[in-house]
Amino acid sequence: MARILDGKWVRDQILKDCVSRIERLSAAGRPPGLAVVLVGNDAASEIYVRNKVKTSGDLGIYSEKLTPSASVTTEELLEIVEGLNARADIDGILVQMPLPAQVDSSRVLLAVDPEKDVDGFHPLNVGNLVTNRPGPRPCTPSGIMEMLRRYDIPIKGKRAVVVGRSDIVGKPMAMMLLHAHATVTICHSRTSDLQGECRRADILVGAIGRPALLTADFIKPGATVIDVGMNRITDAATARSVLAGATEKLAEFDRKGAVLTGDVHPGDVARTAGAYTPVPGGVGPLTIAMLMVNTIDAAERRRGIG
Ligand code: NDP
Repeated sequence: MARILDGKWVRDQILKDCVSRIERLSAAGRPPGLAVVLVGNDAASEIYVRNKVKTSGDLGIYSEKLTPSASVTTEELLEIVEGLNARADIDGILVQMPLPAQVDSSRVLLAVDPEKDVDGFHPLNVGNLVTNRPGPRPCTPSGIMEMLRRYDIPIKGKRAVVVGRSDIVGKPMAMMLLHAHATVTICHSRTSDLQGECRRADILVGAIGRPALLTADFIKPGATVIDVGMNRITDAATARSVLAGATEKLAEFDRKGAVLTGDVHPGDVARTAGAYTPVPGGVGPLTIAMLMVNTIDAAERRRGIG
């Protein structure tokens, strides 16, 4: 059986490393400050933001939630961001995506001061990533790099395949693996032989959003498989077809009427991979931990500490 890569264990290690840095910043004047802007009342976004604010509070990071209504205009949101850019006590600004349709999301992301861009989404920071210069990195892929490092999984010289090319996961993930000297292939919905590409991977990352798409035939025996996908299945026929053979997940579906599953087939990966991240409990916990790290990094950079 494959080794399980435990995201909660990695998260706890990352957060433990944050404590002394926060104490040092607090002793030097004030704790790091994070502002989270949550527009409207999207249920999933509300849960993400609540967890971000709670983790900040537990660690001793000052955090503030701003909740403009769902009808906010681009101009109003730009004004809020500018206000946060100007505040000395705020080191990190996070605008929770997605924004309502009437808001120009790219203008809002561009308005965030790159120094305070704790998501690493500003084009200046994308450029820093591509050219391997210091700067905030997108939280989910940087959490995955921490996980690979803390589990001593070799990257240099390995063949890595990233399925998914989004700006928040797939592309930055590929770039980080490249900087760590993997030979990287990026796949997407138009890739002609997805299975063949995936089967060559020593490190396979699924960041797709399609439940259990990557089955045994996509996994090289012994590979490290990182499953970023978070798919909630609520329909019995879908559960039976995509999760066939995943006994525990199907039992969970029968108990609860819904189940959270990744982009990788949970039974197949356990039987075929050398190591893998479960869903839930794998990649999920890392994202918030890295947001805390980015906030502390920003605070140290702004105050010349570190
Ligand atoms: P996007 O929808 O932005 O991107 C999905 C990518 O998958 C696209 O590049 C798309 O290709 C590709 N894709 C879709 N269908 C297929 C297919 N059949 N074969 C091959 N490639 C395909 O998603 P995100 O990157 O934002 O998120 C991906 C998943 O990760 C989601 O389930 C999301 O919920 C989860 N997630 C989890 C996080 C965590 O903390 N654990 C954080 C962020 C995301 P194309 O570009 O050609 O359309």
